[in-house]
Amino acid sequence: MKMLPDVQNLIALQQADREILRLTEEIASLPKRVAAIEERLAGTRAILEKAKSAVKADEAARRKYETAIQDQQQKISKYRDQSLAVKTNEQYKALLHEIQFAEQDIRTNEDKILELMVNAEIREKDVKAAEAELKAETAEIEKEKVEARQRTAEDEKQLAEWNAKRDAARAGVDADLLRQYDRVAKHRGTGISEARDHKCLACQVMLRPQTYNEVRAATHVVFCESCQRILYYDPANDEVADPVVVARRRRAHPKFESSQAWYYRPGFEDHGEVFVVYLNNKGDSSRHVYDSSSGRGVGDILVREGEYRLAFPEDFSDDVIRLNGSWTESELEEWGNELPTATLDALHRDLDLARAESRKRGHTRTEAVVSEHPAAS
Ligand SMILES: [Zn+2]
Repeated sequence: MKMLPDVQNLIALQQADREILRLTEEIASLPKRVAAIEERLAGTRAILEKAKSAVKADEAARRKYETAIQDQQQKISKYRDQSLAVKTNEQYKALLHEIQFAEQDIRTNEDKILELMVNAEIREKDVKAAEAELKAETAEIEKEKVEARQRTAEDEKQLAEWNAKRDAARAGVDADLLRQYDRVAKHRGTGISEARDHKCLACQVMLRPQTYNEVRAATHVVFCESCQRILYYDPANDEVADPVVVARRRRAHPKFESSQAWYYRPGFEDHGEVFVVYLNNKGDSSRHVYDSSSGRGVGDILVREGEYRLAFPEDFSDDVIRLNGSWTESELEEWGNELPTATLDALHRDLDLARAESRKRGHTRTEAVVSEHPAAS
């Protein structure tokens, strides 16, 4: 895998930075979690206290009612003694009335005591439930505390390891590049991004074909023009470059007979790689050549008599690659002498697919030959 050592170290640095952040946040969050459970524990403890004091209040009330009953009973026996000594009927009636009044009061107090006894069962249940919950929560918090201590110790160990990896990665990066990484990472969270499928994966902006090719070539460090992150290319992650994946994803084949035909040529006159489009129109054909990285027109548009393959026979050597591409005539006119980025991207993508496909075909052919001659191996 082709990758600059600086870039490899920056990828390692980014991973270390991410892990350090995650571990630091986790270590900080553990005491907060324990505090939250402790708060809940305090709430349960308060409920238990309240239930217990309700029981105590009921017991006090019951004692008060019992005392009141005893007082009234004493009064009644006193009235009965007095009734034996009364002289008049009025006095007797008055005492009887007092006795009735006291008996009524006793019944009222007895009702209240009965009510408390019924309530006491509910109160007892409340206390038992609160006690059980407190016990469960206490056990839970103890468990959580042990886990938090273990997790923190493990996190701190990992943190030390990542810090060492981070230092090693930083030491392996050019100082200016490291400053650029730090500056972008400070503002955007990350300082390096993978380029895949013609895009910067961090900011999702399409890269110019030339930029993308430079990242892939990995001869010098390339930055994303949109987000300023350092770019790297990992062929293992790029579906387009992976022939196995490409084989599964079938490429549409260009129609042989069409009024518009696109080609890739590795060399054109004294120029390098180009895309060429031929247009057939009423017995004539025209040819327009574009630089494959900048998309700018190369040379003049040529018009010749006849279908393009017959009109430009010298163009069709073995190394040209037929591409998919069909744009309307008005689009072609609009572009003038430069292909727009989207068109350029589409052509590059199809070129990648076509190449992967031909690699796969070559591979299959070799296998077929081997299987015909098993004795040869
Ligand atoms: Zn970007």
